[in-house]
Amino acid sequence: MSNTDAPIIQFENVNKWYPSNGYHVLRDINLSFAKGEKVVICGPSGSGKSTLIRCINALEEYQEGKIIVDGTVVGDDVKGVDRVRREVGMVFQQFNLFPHLTVLENLILSPTWVAKMPRNEAIEKAMAQLERVRIAEHADKYPLQLSGGQQQRVAIARSLCLTPKIMLFDEPTSALDPEMIKEVLDVMIGLTDQGMTMLCVTHEMGFAKAVADRVIFMDQGQVVEQNTPEEFFNNPQNERSQDFLSKIL
Ligand code: ADP
Ligand code: MG
Repeated sequence: MSNTDAPIIQFENVNKWYPSNGYHVLRDINLSFAKGEKVVICGPSGSGKSTLIRCINALEEYQEGKIIVDGTVVGDDVKGVDRVRREVGMVFQQFNLFPHLTVLENLILSPTWVAKMPRNEAIEKAMAQLERVRIAEHADKYPLQLSGGQQQRVAIARSLCLTPKIMLFDEPTSALDPEMIKEVLDVMIGLTDQGMTMLCVTHEMGFAKAVADRVIFMDQGQVVEQNTPEEFFNNPQNERSQDFLSKIL
């Protein structure tokens, strides 16, 4: 049942341990994200940021509590996972493009195989997304013929081909050379007026200030502080946030 005021993503008392080593990686997470909200998640390496967002589309399991995405409880059954994954796009630090497929073939793979979209329609949609990330002229190249920034823009376009309601970004610019960071952030900023909900793990403060409604700071598996970007960056309340910001600023 989607109700316009209901949060699109909700974490209720979520706890997660990694089975291999028993590490308690998410500790009592309670978070709620409104439809269309843009949120930046930051925190030291190892604080659980990737784990948190990977739980949203069931790339990781959790043991306690509940994650609800657009009315579906994540992890209850396979159908639920499929439903959630159709609504959630994800972009990783490493672009994860198929090197033996052209840019265009990378984009139409899921729409044609998973969503069973006719090939012509998939190509048309893919070209529109490539225009959106300003890379349409490279449609017939292979990923490794492109720069890192261009590959990441292709990865973003690929996610958009399934018209997700939610986009998750996990440090999308941290594998890029400095001169390529801006072109990727600009593309991401361009997506923010589409009403899509965006969660982005990043330490790019300029991006956070430009687009985020809220910044969430994590440390040791907990949400330690959350606030508007202005308040968080200018006036962090928690000692751990202050310490973190003193290191990245
Ligand atoms: P972040 O994205 O904030 O750097 P992660 O969510 O990747 O943090 O990891 C949080 C903690 O969980 C780290 O200490 C990491 O070593 C541990 N961890 C991550 N993945 C696994 C795994 N598959 N098995 C065991 N421990 C893991
Ligand atoms: Mg991470």
